[in-house]
Amino acid sequence: KGRPLVYFDNAATSQKPQVVIDALVNYYSNYNANIHRGIHTLAEEATAAFEETRDAVQQFIHAASREQIVFTRGTTESINLVAYTWGRQNIKAGDEIIISAMEHHSNIVPWQIICEEKKAALRIIPVNDNGELLMDEYQKLIGPKTKLVSIVHASNVLGTVNPVKEIIRLVHAAGAIVLVDGAQSSVHLDIDVQDMDCDFFAFSAHKIYGPTGAGVLYGRKKILESMPVFMGGGEMIKEVTFAKTTYNDLPYKFEAGTPNIADVIAFKAALQFLQNAGKARVRKHEHELLLYATGRLEEIPGVRIIGRAKEKVSVISFVVDKTHPQDIGILLDNRGIAVRTGHHCAEPLMQRFNIPGTVRASFAVYNTKEEVDELVSGLQKAIK
Ligand code: PMP
Repeated sequence: KGRPLVYFDNAATSQKPQVVIDALVNYYSNYNANIHRGIHTLAEEATAAFEETRDAVQQFIHAASREQIVFTRGTTESINLVAYTWGRQNIKAGDEIIISAMEHHSNIVPWQIICEEKKAALRIIPVNDNGELLMDEYQKLIGPKTKLVSIVHASNVLGTVNPVKEIIRLVHAAGAIVLVDGAQSSVHLDIDVQDMDCDFFAFSAHKIYGPTGAGVLYGRKKILESMPVFMGGGEMIKEVTFAKTTYNDLPYKFEAGTPNIADVIAFKAALQFLQNAGKARVRKHEHELLLYATGRLEEIPGVRIIGRAKEKVSVISFVVDKTHPQDIGILLDNRGIAVRTGHHCAEPLMQRFNIPGTVRASFAVYNTKEEVDELVSGLQKAIK
C-alpha cells in the first residue's frame, strides 16, 4: 500500500513470472478447449500443451517415464490420493506409519485419518533443538509393522533439508515404502526421484513460480499400477457399462474429470523460467540471502532463530522475546514487508519448540540483500 513491496512469503507461494501469466492468458485467449476427448484443432492444441507439461515435469524430477506423473491440485491432494488409495488398500490393523515432528498438516492429517480408520498407529521421528531429525530414533522406530514413511524433504518452517536418501534406504531394507513431500524442496533443490529411490514424490506448482491449483504426484510404476482408483468419473475409465467399468492406464487412471488445464499448461512456463534462470545459480543466490539474513537477524537483541540445521533451504523462522509473531508481522506489513507469521500449518512442531508461532521470511530468485536490510530495519523499529 504505497510502498515498494518486499515479498518474503515465498514458502507459502511464489510470485508468478510474466511468462507464466502470459501462458495462462494465451491458453484462454487462443486455444481454450477441453482436452483428450476432442478431435477439433483447439482440443488437439490444448491436449498437446497439457501433455507437454507432463514431459517437462518428468524431466524436472528425472522420472523414468511420463506415465508416472499424475496431475493433482497440489501437494495436499497428492498426499491424500496416496492415503485414500494405497493407504486404504495396504494399511491394516496394527500397522505403523512413520512421519516426523516437522511435518506440514497435509502430511499429518491424511495419515491420522487412515490410522483411525484402520486401527493403525502413527509414529513420529523427533527433532533436536537445531531442527534436525534424530536419525537414531528413526532407526529405532523402523520394524516389521512399518508400512510407510511419509517425510518432508525440506521443512517449510525450519528450512531443514532432511537426509531423504538415507531415510529411504533404511526403510526399504525393512520392506516399507516412502512418500517424500517435496512442496518446499522442489523449487530449491535438484530433484532426482530415481536417485532418491522414493516411491512417491508430491509437490505443488504454485511454490515453483507456477499457478495455484496444479500439482504433481510421482509414483513408482508398479505401485501406481497396483493402486485402486481415487476419484471416479470421466477420463479415468476405459469402458463403462452398468455391469462393469474398466479403468484407464496410467496416469489417466488417477485424473478423473476435466483437469486444471490452464494452470497445468502454464506450469511448463514456470519450469522453463526456473531452468533458464539456472537452478544452481538461483540456489547460490538464495543461499547467500539466507546466510546474510541469518547473520543480520542474529545481531538484533531478543531475536532467536528457530531452525539451525546444517543444511537448509532459504527459509528462516524466528521469534522475538516478549512479542507475539503476529504483532511483528502486522508492523512489518505496514512497511510493505510481507512475511508469514503463525504456526505455518505445523502445530505439532510449534508444540515441540514450545512457541505459539514464528515469523518466517523465505527467499526466492527475485529477492535481494537490500530487501533483507529493509526487513532488519523494519524489525528493529517494530521491536522498539
Ligand atoms: N507440505 C509442505 C512442506 C508445505 O510447505 C506445503 C504448503 N505450505 C504443503 C505441504 C501443502 O501444499 P499445498 O497447500 O500446495 O497443497
